[in-house]
Amino acid sequence: MTQSIDSARLTLILNELRLPAIKQDWAAFAERADKESWPAARFLAMLAEHEVAERDRRRLARHLVEAQLLPGKTLDSFDFDAVPMISKAHVLALCAGDSWIGKGANLLLIGGPGGGKTHLASAIGLALVENGFRVLFTRTSDLVQRLQVARRELALEAAINRLDRFHLLILDDLAYVSKDQAETSVLFELISARYEHRSMLITANQPFGAWGKVFPDPAMTLAAVDRLVHHATIFEINVDSYRRRAALERKQKAVGRPQKHATIKDLDPLSLRDNQTPT
Ligand code: ADP
Ligand code: MG
Repeated sequence: MTQSIDSARLTLILNELRLPAIKQDWAAFAERADKESWPAARFLAMLAEHEVAERDRRRLARHLVEAQLLPGKTLDSFDFDAVPMISKAHVLALCAGDSWIGKGANLLLIGGPGGGKTHLASAIGLALVENGFRVLFTRTSDLVQRLQVARRELALEAAINRLDRFHLLILDDLAYVSKDQAETSVLFELISARYEHRSMLITANQPFGAWGKVFPDPAMTLAAVDRLVHHATIFEINVDSYRRRAALERKQKAVGRPQKHATIKDLDPLSLRDNQTPT
């Protein structure tokens, strides 16, 4: 049956209609439909479903690329037992997005280095992308630099507006922004522009009390913090560095483990004697 149509022309039409998945796979579907005697309506429905599914897949792939999340930092690889002050159920609820994203509410992760803030931020970003939201993960200093360039080119407003397409902007490491007044004001402009409009997830090593170091002007600090926390969930992650703890655990495990190879010490009768010398 498929022989009786002009498949070159069909390809052109499907191109024009922007139906790339159908263009690519209609022949295989048609063959199956012929073999299994599908009713025409079923064949059409299958093609339409196929295009929609492929469209969703392509959109997700695009959103994952643009999000610039950190590889390997997922909720599955995040050990919630290491941060007892954070409820996994609460994080999972935030990952559904509905209750805060879109309302322009914020999420703040605050705590010392190595506590898992960056990991958790990227993992939440990933879950939100998978749930259909658009996210951008960026180091705060990188974004500030980009916005400064835009400002020099008198295009700050446009640059900030372009970030509107992201439902969530993840700013990693707020405290590392330089104290330079010019930088601070682009950050402040960004915070003001997104206030009650588009969400932000911010990680910071310093509690609010120390944000005066990020915003040298106290009035601006107050105004920025005020906007950020007005509609915000705040997680304080006060735990020992996960890296340090993991290293310690590895060391402790290694103590009890039998050696794989003989060491010089094992073979050196002198050192053996030394060790056995009662003190
Ligand atoms: P922070 O941003 O708070 O300084 P990171 O998120 O960079 O900390 O964490 C440091 C390292 O430890 C990263 O490799 C991260 O994946 C890992 N890590 C931290 N906390 C956890 C955790 N609870 N479960 C699994 N890995 C963790
Ligand atoms: Mg970090």
